[in-house]
Amino acid sequence: MHYNIWMPKPWTVEDSAKLYNLRGWGLKYFGVNEKGNMAVQPNREPQGSIDMKAVVDDVLARGIKLPVLFRFQDILRHRVKLLNETFSKVIADHKYKGRYFGVYPIKVNQLREVVEEIVDAGQDYQFGLEAGSKGELMAVLAMNQPGALVIVNGYKDERMMRLALLGTKLGKRVLVVIEKPSELPLLLKAGRDLGVRPLIGLRSKLQTQGSGKWKYSTGQAAKFGLTTPEVLAAVLELESAGLSDCVKMLHFHVGSQVTDIQTIKDAVREATRTYAKLRQRGISIEYLDCGGGLGVDYDGTNTAVDSSTNYNLKEYVGGVVATIQEVCAQEKVPEPNIVTESGRYLVAHHSMLVVNVFGTIEAGASPIEFAQAPGEADVVVKMREVIAELTPANLAESYHDGLERQDEAFTLFKLGFLSLEDKAKVENLFWKLCLEIDRLMPKAKYVPEDLVAMSKTVKDQYLCNFSLFQSLPDSWAIGQLFPIMPLHRLDEEPLRRAALVDITCDSDGKIAQFACHRKAGGSLPLHALHNGDPYYLGVFLMGAYQATMGDIHNLFGRVNEVHVFADADEPGGYYIEEIISGQNVKEVLESIQYNDFELAKMVKAAADAQVKAGALKPREGVELLNEYESVMAEYTYIDHNGQHHAPAAPPNGSSAEPLVKQGA
Ligand SMILES: *Cc1c(COP(=O)(O)O)cnc(C)c1O
Repeated sequence: MHYNIWMPKPWTVEDSAKLYNLRGWGLKYFGVNEKGNMAVQPNREPQGSIDMKAVVDDVLARGIKLPVLFRFQDILRHRVKLLNETFSKVIADHKYKGRYFGVYPIKVNQLREVVEEIVDAGQDYQFGLEAGSKGELMAVLAMNQPGALVIVNGYKDERMMRLALLGTKLGKRVLVVIEKPSELPLLLKAGRDLGVRPLIGLRSKLQTQGSGKWKYSTGQAAKFGLTTPEVLAAVLELESAGLSDCVKMLHFHVGSQVTDIQTIKDAVREATRTYAKLRQRGISIEYLDCGGGLGVDYDGTNTAVDSSTNYNLKEYVGGVVATIQEVCAQEKVPEPNIVTESGRYLVAHHSMLVVNVFGTIEAGASPIEFAQAPGEADVVVKMREVIAELTPANLAESYHDGLERQDEAFTLFKLGFLSLEDKAKVENLFWKLCLEIDRLMPKAKYVPEDLVAMSKTVKDQYLCNFSLFQSLPDSWAIGQLFPIMPLHRLDEEPLRRAALVDITCDSDGKIAQFACHRKAGGSLPLHALHNGDPYYLGVFLMGAYQATMGDIHNLFGRVNEVHVFADADEPGGYYIEEIISGQNVKEVLESIQYNDFELAKMVKAAADAQVKAGALKPREGVELLNEYESVMAEYTYIDHNGQHHAPAAPPNGSSAEPLVKQGA
């Protein structure tokens, strides 16, 4: 094909990759194939590429409904290996004397299959597990492999101390971290009662201030850890009890998602000094535990903003190892074994939520064309004039005129002086005005705040079949950004700009901040829906912290889960190992004390009454009850193959509530 040089270049999959900044956050696990579909490369090898659109079609053909959470267990394995091998390599390169003993903090994702995969992938590296509560410790004690560490953090009671020491009796290397001074006597008592010498970790409350959203996890006001006087008091207490040789570890944690590498180095430096001073005092600490905090570049910008990190894995590991080595050399103490508790880094990439878009609320769309007609109310005529006279030089003035006309129309309507047709015209014209202002804004010299605010409301809203509160709690709670993009049609330019809304009846159930195009923006480029064709979006990097923090707001339950494994011998290069059904209506209702049988009885009583009153035939009564009961077994999400388009309510300078809402 010949291209005329004046013709715009056709859109390519490369353009999509750039637009969604796939290279930035996808880390080569995610790419686009020549068909224009999302391609997953769980081992980062192009020959092992899985067509995600084909996987979704396959799963739907098996009768599994969207939304579905896909887990790529191979990605988990790959992350575990990468972390361990990077530490091994850097340790060898530096001729560092200690070893690396990583642990996975299961709070980040406790699902058994996730923990199992990590334990299995980490077997060659004696990769351990960390627990922060009684429940987690129960799982960790059972799952941990011989030779690997078990680290027990979090506030503990005597029972939990005993549980930890039972682990020691089972031959596991359990390190109990003292988070506050009163825990030490509890641990020593449990040790005496069970006849076990505990392995003790001391958590130090560092002075170094963190960076990123969780920066207040350190410092004197932090929730966990011992201050310097408390560390000394603990050591004195242990020395006088003849147990100071039980102190095996110094622990610190600067908070999750540390965005700045300098923070990590500063914290490691401070902690290594403490380690060295204790060592010089004769406390033979073997492990320095640097906690979690190894971040994930959610927006792919490689910067120190909250959703990114200004370092990569190699820099992190290099920073940790070199800093410890340097301080140990100065202090002339042995180099300790290094422990990290990286959770987010290991699990974020392995799961992807797939949702279907089942409709759009198109900015400014109207199902009826409103032509100019004789006899229109004065306010309609004036609104038309505002639009006709719009130029880049009078945007603000025109917008304010438009707002005034709209208010005037509203007042007239309330008083009964405006027809429904003319009210519709004013609303529609006001939308047109806003869209036109939005289009002209880049040409304006100065754009006041209220116009910027207005412009945010004139994008489309894509209705997505999921609940933000169940599947992406951090998006709602702390404004966490997750990469989001279509799974197909990537060889086609996405011409719409949209926000995403979920199916809860909550105006917070909305995503209006996106990370793409190398900066976070208020709208996501998406394709126009072809009537009736499915449109799938993937929400990526959501494997960390989302699984058990989600709730059943509006009674949308846990989503279906599908575990995908790469396998070059299978058609499509993958097989599905496991399908975990999401909650059905009955299960969600049960979790809040409704019994399906009782509910059916009540509905039956109402139906019987209607039959008795002659409003229903007996057969209709039975059918009604059958239909009611059959919903109990269904998925809580909407079952919508088609799509609908709906016009949005006009922006009014404040927030534009969508006209179409699910439910009441
Ligand atoms: C949460 C937590 C971690 C995990 O942090 P990530 O940033 O996910 O790696 C590690 N250690 C402790 C003590 C924690 O509380």
